[in-house]
Amino acid sequence: MTDPVFQRLALIGIGLIGSSIALAARRGTLARHIAVSTRSAETLRHAEELALGDSYHADPAEAVRDADCVILCIPVGAYGAVTRAISGALRPGAIVSDVGSVKASVIAAVQPHLPAGVHFVPAHPVAGTEYSGPGAGFAELFDNRWCILTPPPETDPEAVARMRDFWERLGSNVEVMNAEHHDLVLAITSHVPHLIAYNIVGTAADLETVTRSEVMKFSAGGFRDFTRIAASDPTMWRDVFLNNREAVLEMLGRFTEDLTALQRLIRYGEGDKLFELFTRTRAIRRGIIAAGQETAAPDFGRRHGKDDKAE
Ligand code: NAP
Repeated sequence: MTDPVFQRLALIGIGLIGSSIALAARRGTLARHIAVSTRSAETLRHAEELALGDSYHADPAEAVRDADCVILCIPVGAYGAVTRAISGALRPGAIVSDVGSVKASVIAAVQPHLPAGVHFVPAHPVAGTEYSGPGAGFAELFDNRWCILTPPPETDPEAVARMRDFWERLGSNVEVMNAEHHDLVLAITSHVPHLIAYNIVGTAADLETVTRSEVMKFSAGGFRDFTRIAASDPTMWRDVFLNNREAVLEMLGRFTEDLTALQRLIRYGEGDKLFELFTRTRAIRRGIIAAGQETAAPDFGRRHGKDDKAE
């Protein structure tokens, strides 16, 4: 058996992502001790009932004391306040990391509060579901998914290597890129699709001439997949859009232009051009399946519940 990567791993936040890290870290024996902290007494109790950690702390500063790795698993809008609360308890040489879906604003929120000698290695596991809370996690969530590390240029390469090792042993493939590039890529692959889903489900909910029961009844025609994405956590996604404003607006501008072009093709009956586009997009889906990031089974390969990969 290989040695654990960390002696004491502190998870600050124990929702879907925090609990999945706890379970996958336990599966791979990646930490000798897992310290869990979360904002509410209720979630902390739930995490303890599920035996996700080895110790449970209402005070995040208590959880990070003596930890050689601390991972923030909370909505990105809360990073600044939480990092300020733990900074005095971080031990020299510790690695602070996170799982936030945006990266440049995270670096701006966290870095100023970190004491000298603490290494910051931001991370984003590109894996998730539309479920939240400690009961939603599962050890396989990160298997064969990508985890993107976005260390600022001055970061100690040794700390980056340890986080790479950690995520690889959690089951992920790891890529390193700069935070701004990450935010642009994820704007188009994740953030804008979520916005489109929130918008289309909102539009359907507001329709007056089609009843709500008809929307539910005939949802298999494509709408159902949007509703799954639009069921994702409201706090998390509010924070994603507010913290990746520029990249999302840039991609949304392009999307709107392309949508207007499609509108014209339909208006002027240009079927060949529609066919050509739909053929190209079909090839993209086949490429995603070939890359092992989705299955070719019908119904988008989804069984139910924990098999649903959202992000
Ligand atoms: P979640 O299941 O809703 O859990 C959120 C956790 O954060 C809970 O422990 C919650 O504590 C805590 N929390 C919420 N608001 C807080 C605040 N203002 N201050 C301190 N703690 C707070 O969320 P999640 O899906 O695990 O997401 C966590 C992070 O992972 C986010 O940054 C998100 O961007 C990132 N992420 C999510 C996905 C996804 O698909 N869900 C995928 C990749 C990355 P209490 O319950 O005790 O209040």
